[in-house]
Amino acid sequence: MANSVTLHPAHADLDSILVTEESIKRRIRKLGTDVAAAYGDEEITVVSIINGAILFTADLVRAIANPIRLDCIRISSYRNETKSLGKPQLFHSLTLDVANRHVLLIDDILDTGKTLSMVVGLIQKQSPASVKTCVLLDKKGRREVAFEADFVGFQIPDKFVVGYGLDFAERYRNLPCIGVLKPHLQNPPEWA
Ligand code: 5GP
Ligand code: MG
Repeated sequence: MANSVTLHPAHADLDSILVTEESIKRRIRKLGTDVAAAYGDEEITVVSIINGAILFTADLVRAIANPIRLDCIRISSYRNETKSLGKPQLFHSLTLDVANRHVLLIDDILDTGKTLSMVVGLIQKQSPASVKTCVLLDKKGRREVAFEADFVGFQIPDKFVVGYGLDFAERYRNLPCIGVLKPHLQNPPEWA
């Protein structure tokens, strides 16, 4: 039977795999029950930061038994580069009303902390009942603003990772695992 390695030739662009497809699945099942336990019977308004959190959100919401409303916002702090350009930009904001709602903000990775602290600030202005955050990955050592997520999938080292929603220049999002891109592929001239 074909396995994910033969289905995904992009694996060849990885230096190493940090999180396998199986451990992502296992961790998300646990995160789903943790989130459900934290909210009791309450409805949750999930706000997903796309594109990076698309795959994680799709899998996580199916692991949470609570009633859920789903919205997406679009932020960008990278432009075809592996280093943050500083201030995150909001490209597409909320369409759902979050006043008096329990908001669960989902992102792919917590790095400097700038994105989530900015978005939490924006959501707070709309008087939600509560705001919690959930990230699949956390690079604790990279924090520039003090910020911790309420739910974290995996702690990872300070490496640029791709796969399972995380991209480099919009590529590799469809890899089912998370891995470190080979250094010589991180800034190829044809993508600059
Ligand atoms: P922060 O604002 O916390 O520095 O950055 C969070 C955003 O930066 C994430 O949502 C993600 O888009 C991007 N990011 C941070 N580290 C990585 C990484 O290792 N790989 C990829 N593909 N994106 C990252
Ligand atoms: Mg992102």
